[in-house]
Amino acid sequence: QQDERESLYLVSEFANSYFQKILHKTDQGKAIGLSYFKERGFTEDTIKKFDLGYSLDEWQAFTDEALKQGYKLEFLEKTGLTIVKEDKRFDRFKGRVMFPIKSMSGRVLGFGGRILINDKKAAKYVNSPESDIYHKSKVLYGIYHAKQSIAKEDNCYLVEGYTDVIQFHQTGIKNVVSSSGTALTPEQIRLINRLTKNITVLFDGDAAGMRASLRGIDLILEQGMNVKVCTFPEGEDPDSFAKQNTLEELSVYLIENAKDFIQFKASVLYEESKNDPIKKAETIRDIVNSISKIPDRIKKEIYIQECSKIMDISEEVLFSTLAQINKKDF
Ligand code: ATP
Ligand code: MN
Ligand code: MN
Ligand code: MN
Repeated sequence: QQDERESLYLVSEFANSYFQKILHKTDQGKAIGLSYFKERGFTEDTIKKFDLGYSLDEWQAFTDEALKQGYKLEFLEKTGLTIVKEDKRFDRFKGRVMFPIKSMSGRVLGFGGRILINDKKAAKYVNSPESDIYHKSKVLYGIYHAKQSIAKEDNCYLVEGYTDVIQFHQTGIKNVVSSSGTALTPEQIRLINRLTKNITVLFDGDAAGMRASLRGIDLILEQGMNVKVCTFPEGEDPDSFAKQNTLEELSVYLIENAKDFIQFKASVLYEESKNDPIKKAETIRDIVNSISKIPDRIKKEIYIQECSKIMDISEEVLFSTLAQINKKDF
């Protein structure tokens, strides 16, 4: 079992150096992959720091090379790098730019691969499948590069995508990780919890990002952590926003726009429901429900007071709603 995992790690490390070699040393890699990253505004240093790579647009170039180097088909298949169908073998990441996903200690666990041209027929990102070394619910993209800064800054920015993490680093903000497309999980939050009690959620400025932030809040509160949310202008994500701003501007924006979760919920949900008594009641219940997730009694009470002020409703009603919710939970 241990030996098998080790074999999966080794084949993943090999793939990681192979994809980088293709990116930097081949004509196709340079013309297609490297230019793609440069067009996105990534510098040579950034590309190297994150071990970005490219997988040739050929059916089995990677698989053939790996087999030639002595890696076993069994492990190529188990890591998902090779798709085996009857007697045929395909490179999973054919023609994609590559983002290796690393563990806290820097081992390569899997990959995300992006197509170069947005095309409705193909998935924009393809990821490694679950394997004995890659459990997507337990990994955060960027954690290896971020862990020191998260502890030092005592805060962690949580973004949606690979490129958001990378662009933040390039701009100068290093305490950032991404759930990379999967809905945030308790295990992912626990990884952050070991380094800081403070999370600032920075999801995309679109409806999906908004919904994902709302869902993430309760999971974070449940672990006794503090959560703030900072939104971006419509259509922007942390990557596109960071690219247009200096470190100074970005830092100021993050400080000025990070709202405590209750202010965030109040500003998005309450503002749109305050003139409709039924919706307003739902919103208040929703916010009290979030407050009910906070383990700390004192914090709970402070948030109830805050909620009472923002929502213009008595603390008494809020406390009894909280009591009802707690009863339902047990
Ligand atoms: P880009 O800037 O390259 O278009 P993004 O990170 O802004 O990428 P989003 O569409 O905002 O992309 O999605 C956020 C994250 O969700 C991605 O980084 C990726 O991890 C994941 N994701 C997006 N589309 C897919 C897909 N079709 N299949 C699997 N994962 C996806
Ligand atoms: Mn998005
Ligand atoms: Mn995005
Ligand atoms: Mn983006």
